[in-house]
Amino acid sequence: MVGASVAAHLARRGVSATLVDRRGAGEETSSGNAGLIEASRMLPIGFPRKARYIIRHALGLSPQSNYHWSALPGLLPFLLRYWASSRPDRLDASARALRPLLAAAPDEHAALAAEAGSQRLIRPAGLLQVFRTEEGFAETGADRRFADEFGVPYEILDRDAALALEPHLRPVFRRALSWPRTENCPDPGALTKSYAALFEKSGGVFVRGDARTLHAYAGGWRVETEAGPVDAKQAVIALGPWSMDVAARFGVRVPFAVKRGYHVHLAPEGNATLGRGVLDYDGGFALLPMDRGMRITTGVEFARRDAPPTPVQLQRALPFAHELFPLGRTIDDKPWMGSRPAIADSLPVIGRAPGQSTLWLAFGHAHLGFTLGPPTGRLLAEMMLGEKPFVDPTPFRADRF
Ligand SMILES: Cc1cc2nc3c(=O)[nH]c(=O)nc-3n(C[C@H](O)[C@H](O)[C@H](O)COP(=O)(O)OP(=O)(O)OC[C@H]3O[C@@H](n4cnc5c(N)ncnc54)[C@H](O)[C@@H]3O)c2cc1C
Repeated sequence: MVGASVAAHLARRGVSATLVDRRGAGEETSSGNAGLIEASRMLPIGFPRKARYIIRHALGLSPQSNYHWSALPGLLPFLLRYWASSRPDRLDASARALRPLLAAAPDEHAALAAEAGSQRLIRPAGLLQVFRTEEGFAETGADRRFADEFGVPYEILDRDAALALEPHLRPVFRRALSWPRTENCPDPGALTKSYAALFEKSGGVFVRGDARTLHAYAGGWRVETEAGPVDAKQAVIALGPWSMDVAARFGVRVPFAVKRGYHVHLAPEGNATLGRGVLDYDGGFALLPMDRGMRITTGVEFARRDAPPTPVQLQRALPFAHELFPLGRTIDDKPWMGSRPAIADSLPVIGRAPGQSTLWLAFGHAHLGFTLGPPTGRLLAEMMLGEKPFVDPTPFRADRF
């Protein structure tokens, strides 16, 4: 989503550009997510700071997270910085830095989708957060205060009011929060592909190749592709969870790790439907009405990016999901796994690579990369072409650490 959006913005401005991917566009993290365009996301998801939560998470008792203990020594430097950046005042600062980009996301998606002819894939249906405990609801206090300050609408609903919105939910929760500005995409991979197709329609060239071959060449950059070497005056690294494989070679140093996540699709039972995405706060999963079926997505797994999948969070979430909604047979042969590319302060990197004049970075959007692709694409294209950036890019500099 990030690379396709950057490419679409450059091509629409008349830049001659080549998008290099080792697969088709939109076939990795940007296909398997929850498909939520979350202009209503308030505070970033921080590392738990209360001792009893840390213990629950560490013991694998919390559905929201899972840890591979063998990966922890390697992850420790990142986790310590993530923990420090999750202090309430720092999360608040990150949320303020991110707000202009997040607020722009619906309009920026709408503009690309209108040109790409993929408006069907964006539904202004909203998001329903349901709470099984009062404690869970109370934990959203900071989000609600932030929403009040920024004028982002939400509604506190009792169980009956929530069931009036989504009559097929079962009454296993006590109350709910409705976020009407959140948009739902029933096929995130297809929306990403439509932006890549818009790039090609605007004169861009898509070619398969390995970005790890990127090297300085004749005053610019060269990358090897199936169509032979591609040379360019400027290059952008937007490789999601694989970004640091290439960026680190050019001196980029940012506290980076991946937060893995899973999904599986189940068929609804009978005529059961959902109009919008539902987040089960205490159950630690999201339930999304997708073209393929009901998608259940999980929280965060800290593990080595390339370690074999361990979908234990899906196993923990599924009984809660069956309680909440009438679900039937499993559609997928095996769970999907993806890796959210995350930077410790929960802000992406968007801008020039430090010490480089023609190498650019756009990665690290963590839980919000599907939302933030189009505004990131616009911001980076404006910076590359020397236009006035539509939001202040300072918080996203790679040399902020
Ligand atoms: C379970 C889950 C749920 C989520 N839900 C949401 C949500 O509801 N809303 C939201 O906004 N975000 C969500 N996210 C986060 C979001 O999916 C990511 O932040 C986003 O997809 C990252 O996009 P990207 O373009 O940076 O990376 P990717 O989509 O992973 O793209 C990276 C691209 O780089 C290519 N590539 C990798 N290595 C090479 C190489 N060597 N050579 C060439 N090409 C290469 C890949 O093929 C791929 O096309 C979720 C994530 C997960 C895991």
